[in-house]
Amino acid sequence: MHVSVVLFTADLRLHDHPPLRAALEAADAVVPLFVRDRAVEAAGFAAPNRRAFLDGCLADLDASLRERGGRLVVRSGDPVEEVCRVVTEADADEVHMSAEHSWFAVCREQRLRSALERTGCRLFVHDAVTVAVPPGVVTPASSDHFAVFTPYYRQWTQVPLRPVVGAPRRVPVPDAVRGEQVPAHDGTTGTSPDLPPGGESEARKQATAYWRHGLDAYDTARDDLAADATSRLSAHLHFGTLSPSELVHRARRGGGAGTEAFVRQLAWRDFHRQVLAARPWTARADYRTKRDRWRTERTAGADIEAWREGRTGYPVIDAAMRQLRQEGWMHNRARLLTASFLTKTLYVDWRIGADHFLHWLVDGDVANNQLNWQWMAGTGTDTRPNRVLNPVTQAKKYDPQGTYVRRWVPELADVEAASVHEPWKLPGLDRAALDYPDPIVELSDGLDRFRRARGKQQ
Ligand code: FAD
Repeated sequence: MHVSVVLFTADLRLHDHPPLRAALEAADAVVPLFVRDRAVEAAGFAAPNRRAFLDGCLADLDASLRERGGRLVVRSGDPVEEVCRVVTEADADEVHMSAEHSWFAVCREQRLRSALERTGCRLFVHDAVTVAVPPGVVTPASSDHFAVFTPYYRQWTQVPLRPVVGAPRRVPVPDAVRGEQVPAHDGTTGTSPDLPPGGESEARKQATAYWRHGLDAYDTARDDLAADATSRLSAHLHFGTLSPSELVHRARRGGGAGTEAFVRQLAWRDFHRQVLAARPWTARADYRTKRDRWRTERTAGADIEAWREGRTGYPVIDAAMRQLRQEGWMHNRARLLTASFLTKTLYVDWRIGADHFLHWLVDGDVANNQLNWQWMAGTGTDTRPNRVLNPVTQAKKYDPQGTYVRRWVPELADVEAASVHEPWKLPGLDRAALDYPDPIVELSDGLDRFRRARGKQQ
């Protein structure tokens, strides 16, 4: 009997899963394996929200495999050692997995390849599983990656996507291989109260509902903070409970009004991955340094804490930071505003903001998070690196009635739209009645400091 192992990583689904399909074609039985990587947990990357969401994904994947006559094998430890152990236990001759592009994943793949070579087992790595278009497929003439999104996107749209692979009907799993109980630990503490559930079943339901009722308005409403009109599929894309290329196929097939704008956002995901694959150090270091001498915990501790807690005195910033804690998610426009506020108005190191986001975001993702932070800090791929978003004018534009602010900042629930984004302008008594802080910085002072730091005099 031929047995293959399928190592699941950031692709926790059965639909459109080329490694699983290839393994089933090559073997009589497969071991669907997920390894809880102790190194990831030790490095603090398995933040509570993502850990809890992951448990949901694994439970759902296990249930779907059981419906098909199989089960998920979960182990904990070093993925390379565990895969080799499972290969021996199952007497497998092939291992299949998806390509991932972070430095960590590339090292894991290399270690796995050499370890399996010693056992005579072959490793197959399948592309376009965690992205629609893999790094390296689209490159400019003079470099190994695109540093600007628009020309990248122009070429990205010309790449033919692989066809979508259906979910298997049966997944026979050999009895001999045992794993831990799924989920393998007793729940997670420190999670956001309104954390969404993980898992492919939930992801597909959510995507279908969005297709029917949300996508058409995507282009016109996606920046409207109160409308909450984006797909909220980011965590599912991060954990691979949805296939990005299937999403692009489905969006294009539907052809509705929001299609192009939505597909363009998915391309941003691939764009950041090709930057990170080519320049892995950008996870911690500037892509294009501006020689910033950032303020840090030591020099700006109180400002940073006010930002984290949602007590800056700028209502839209505070609303967004509170949404992050409550839901483990934040609207894209709000991510831009809070990142601009921290890095430009407060002139604080982007890594401090990125770490805080990575702690809370259920979609927290090294490529998307670090490179979006760098984009907003002006050390990344933005062609206008010194742009500063004004939280008051932006709030008036993207939350004109103050609905988003009132939703997350109850202290301002009774303040009218005309004042809700600038409560400091309320007459003295009205203002004194609010349990809401004064701004921690004047916007003009923040702007002056930033311009001086970047060598741009008024
Ligand atoms: P939609 O608007 O419905 O977009 C569909 C999908 O496209 C998203 O789910 C996401 O996978 C992708 N996408 C959308 N915008 C971007 C973008 N700017 N860059 C890359 N991919 C994008 N996204 C993450 O997935 N993980 C992160 O850790 C993350 N951190 C961010 C940090 C900052 C400072 C900023 C400004 C943005 C960050 N983003 C991150 C990108 C974006 O904000 C989220 O992907 C988006 O808000 C998720 O909501 P949605 O699924 O409703 O998005």
